[in-house]
Amino acid sequence: MKAKKFPALDDFRLIAVILVVANHTRSADGEFLWLLTVLRRVSVPFFIMVSGYFLARGNWRSTGKFLTKTAMLYGVGVLLYLPLNYYAGQLSPDFFRRVIFDGSFYHLWYLPALLLGTPIAYYLSRFKPQAAIPIAGALYLIGLGGESYYGLVSGIPVLSTLYNGIFQVFDYTRNGLFYVPLFLLLGAAGIVFSRRTSVIGLLCSLAALIVEALLLHRSGIQRHDSMYFFFPFLMIFLFSLLLEANQGERRSLRQLTTVVYLIHPWCLVLVRGAAKVIGLTGLLVENTVVLFILVLVSSFLLSQMLLLLQPPRSVQTGRAWIELDRAALRHNVQQLRSILPEGCALMPAVKANAYGHGAVLIAKELNRLGITAFCVATVTEGAELRRGGIKGEILVLGYTHPEQFYMLRRYRLTQTVVDISYARLLNIYGKKLKVHLKIDTGMHRLGIPADRKEEIVRVFNYRNLVITGIFTHLCAADVRTAEKEKFTMGQAAAFDRVICDLNKRGLNCGKIHLLSSDGLLQYPELAGDYARVGIALYGVLSQGADMESCRINLRPVLSVKARVALVKDLYAGEAAGYGLGYMAESNRKIAVLSIGYADGIPRALSCGKGRVLIAESEAPIIGLICMDQLLVDVTDIPDAAAGDTAVLIGTSGSRQITACDLAEQTGTITNEILSRLGSRLNRIIV
Ligand SMILES: *Cc1c(COP(=O)(O)O)cnc(C)c1O
Repeated sequence: MKAKKFPALDDFRLIAVILVVANHTRSADGEFLWLLTVLRRVSVPFFIMVSGYFLARGNWRSTGKFLTKTAMLYGVGVLLYLPLNYYAGQLSPDFFRRVIFDGSFYHLWYLPALLLGTPIAYYLSRFKPQAAIPIAGALYLIGLGGESYYGLVSGIPVLSTLYNGIFQVFDYTRNGLFYVPLFLLLGAAGIVFSRRTSVIGLLCSLAALIVEALLLHRSGIQRHDSMYFFFPFLMIFLFSLLLEANQGERRSLRQLTTVVYLIHPWCLVLVRGAAKVIGLTGLLVENTVVLFILVLVSSFLLSQMLLLLQPPRSVQTGRAWIELDRAALRHNVQQLRSILPEGCALMPAVKANAYGHGAVLIAKELNRLGITAFCVATVTEGAELRRGGIKGEILVLGYTHPEQFYMLRRYRLTQTVVDISYARLLNIYGKKLKVHLKIDTGMHRLGIPADRKEEIVRVFNYRNLVITGIFTHLCAADVRTAEKEKFTMGQAAAFDRVICDLNKRGLNCGKIHLLSSDGLLQYPELAGDYARVGIALYGVLSQGADMESCRINLRPVLSVKARVALVKDLYAGEAAGYGLGYMAESNRKIAVLSIGYADGIPRALSCGKGRVLIAESEAPIIGLICMDQLLVDVTDIPDAAAGDTAVLIGTSGSRQITACDLAEQTGTITNEILSRLGSRLNRIIV
């Protein structure tokens, strides 16, 4: 099943950083060797494009964080090279200008350039790419004038004054203003051609670049050779080729390459120094190939050592925890979007702590995927989301006490009007409140009954209610039997009549919505502006829902895992747990797991009803489940040992336990199993 992953973007970092080291260990360029230098310059645009690509994938929301990280990295870099600056006598007043505009050491120019170029690209990203990229391209052209084409422009007085001005501030035009924005935006555009087109494009632009470089090099008009006209074209095709192949990620390489980039000039200095001390300068330094290899190896070794010094990252150390599969969530969003009718957006239900998954964690991830509307059950759930930094509309589906109306305004929440007398309460609060109007079309839970036209219209007359939506809830959409279909169609028709009537009276209903998971899967044609999808988003369906007839596949997002506290022998005739719930008929080996019913594991799974997975094997639950612990039989799992991880929901090797299994074993629905998972469980996204 599992396709081999090839994290092309991360892997290319390795090549890119090796090229950077190669560029910095070359000596005076011999015949044609300078040409290699030109080609080795793909590294920096590549790194910039990767940054742009990931910034754009998060809708540029993490731009602030990215800038902070870059600034910190640059701060470390500046400090690291201060001794060398001092040694080289560079700590003149001009040093501060260079720190800000050019980089304090030769390789560090890239970081201040990002710090300047990213805000520019961020600003341009608000325009359509068709407008933003040409603007950035124009900046690049200006930059070219100060680089490879300087000889052409310096002859024209106006331009020569202009560039002299630029060079008062910057040493080079290969900087944050002229160079970085274009590559950031090209990365952000995420252009992917077919592999064939990419390869052909790459070869053609490479040929063009070589011709351009040869001509320019001969002409002697170059001031510096980092920028060529055909470079962006080469990069577009190279990046497309990488994106097309890219699958998965290799985070370890990201850190390693960053550290190598940061420290390799120091290694160069040290290698040179060491060679001098042992009197082998001729062999080790003057031969550029040997020098390159020495610097490369020492940079990687030193970086690896530095990385080993940092504390190990987020290995799960808890007693019991929940793992969320980010890829599965993304997959489900994409699958659900594929069946959304035209004009209909997802409004995920993240009530009950996102069905046990962790509301802020899930909503944050959904925000990143471009989802900007959510629904919750209570006003405190809405407040929690806002405090967690969630953006967009948040609709409170349930009742809110008038004492808490102030929270609706403080946290910019939208309240549901649950009936006509509640509308009056909301109105006499005296301040404007955003509301969605709920219509009861046959569930007989919340909402104004659909046939009470006069009451519905009256809500529109309340001055303090800002009505931004209207909705109803289908209660029999799980399967399309003749009876249920007739009922559901009746609900939809009643809702439709209400809306037509309001429209006829010239009243604006705002967003219209009626589908939840079952509704969207069975009756996508009923559409509306939002689909309030809950359970399906988490990759499971309620029992009884007709999985066969829906045309999409969903993947469970959540796993529940617990630590094996200890493994012990239980001899024939001995009992285990409360109330002599288990009696060993033969000699057994049992394991104690640190998870219990207070964590949301149903006590009804006691005494052999449930099972867990340890080391890819099944272990039945024995005896009565306790509040914080439970016992399993591991006689058939000889490898089981204290410290192991047991899976209560999720997969281990080829075996799987789903929330559906637990629901079936305990006579309930997946929604209940998931939403009751305890607050004691640590939730992490993997
Ligand atoms: C919980 C809820 C939803 C989401 O239901 P799922 O079946 O989980 O998709 C939608 N609408 C309302 C009114 C709800 O209470």
